[in-house]
Amino acid sequence: MSAKLVVGNWKMNGSLESNRLLIQSIAKDPAVSGAVVCPPSVFLSQVKELLQDSDIVLGAQNLSRFDNGAYTGEVSAAMLLEVGACYVLVGHSERRAIFAESDAEVASKVEVALLKGLTPIICVGETLLQRQQGLADSIVLTQLRAVLDVVGASKFARCIVAYEPVWAIGTGVAATVADVQGMHARIKQSFAEWSVATVPVLYGGSVKPDNAAELMALSVVDGALVGGASLVAEQFLAICRAAKSIG
Ligand code: PEP
Repeated sequence: MSAKLVVGNWKMNGSLESNRLLIQSIAKDPAVSGAVVCPPSVFLSQVKELLQDSDIVLGAQNLSRFDNGAYTGEVSAAMLLEVGACYVLVGHSERRAIFAESDAEVASKVEVALLKGLTPIICVGETLLQRQQGLADSIVLTQLRAVLDVVGASKFARCIVAYEPVWAIGTGVAATVADVQGMHARIKQSFAEWSVATVPVLYGGSVKPDNAAELMALSVVDGALVGGASLVAEQFLAICRAAKSIG
């Protein structure tokens, strides 16, 4: 069994002081070795510095599809790499819903991330309405296919996927074990049908210390993308411990 990956998405939270306290509380714990934290881009340099002597890896929450130039407010892949990021979340549902990121834009961001040497964590997931309409599978597979069609199978093999049902993000209501098992199995089956080497598929959506072990124990779940609980040291540590006890 390969190790389960835990990724913390801090979203638009943190400050110089709270970041320092959080990293100090988790950095030395062996459970976090190999885990990823994704602070807001303005704090990447600070967090990289705080992570010296720790085995936590740095990730970003977004990147520009452009390389440089007149794109006010954007942050390029090269900039993320320069300040020490190795991973980048792409297509988080908050970016898709609030910032209108299309499947095509997500695909081009993944392409740029791969070209520059960042590992993209491609976030996919259906809304509650889409699930109720029986569209969950087709939405998720369409989102993945949009990336695959742009980057091709060999590059896709260097990605990580995070299945994050939109209705489970930040709600405190995680998907059931059966829902997660079903969707992850369908994603992996599609990889086989598309002749894509299987890539890690994380689950995200209200992962907490009390459900992390159960969800990550599923063989089709390769880890967790954690939002709210990644901001609370004891909770993030508990989730990382659960991952280590399984993987
Ligand atoms: C997320 O932000 O990707 C997420 C899964 O958030 P939460 O764990 O708070 O539901």
